[in-house]
Amino acid sequence: MSGKSIRWISAFVYGTVMVIGWWYPVVALAVFLLMGLALLAGKRRKWCGSYCPRGSFLDLVMKRISPKKPIPRWMTGKRIWYISIAVFLCMFGFQVVASGLLESFSWKLMGKVAYRMCFVTSMVALPLALWRNHRAWCSICPVGNLLRR
Ligand code: SF4
Repeated sequence: MSGKSIRWISAFVYGTVMVIGWWYPVVALAVFLLMGLALLAGKRRKWCGSYCPRGSFLDLVMKRISPKKPIPRWMTGKRIWYISIAVFLCMFGFQVVASGLLESFSWKLMGKVAYRMCFVTSMVALPLALWRNHRAWCSICPVGNLLRR
């Protein structure tokens, strides 16, 4: 399968998860399953450029409507990344506690947490793409920054 096909499929997964996940949040686990498979296959460094569903969606869809301005320097420094990972971890911790996952594990609850994380981060990523650059989110994305290390 060509790289372009993989990216379109990946972007489709993102769009589907974002829409269907509102009613069936368990589908959001597909994104994490994909990431796990990519990592197991040794594609850590290729994840952001080729496999990430949101990255593919940003490239294939949002790029068409993004002003494609340069990403501001303050968004590419280490400080903003530390802030973003701290916010991400706090949000994740809060979601885990609030969803009741600590009391009883279920895939449904896990999906809820995953979907909420995807949804909230998308509420930052998509406006950033419209305001500045389709990949602006990727400069502060906690996951991408960890994988690129
Ligand atoms: S930086 Fe984050 S959103 Fe962007 S491609 Fe990588 S993992 Fe996906």
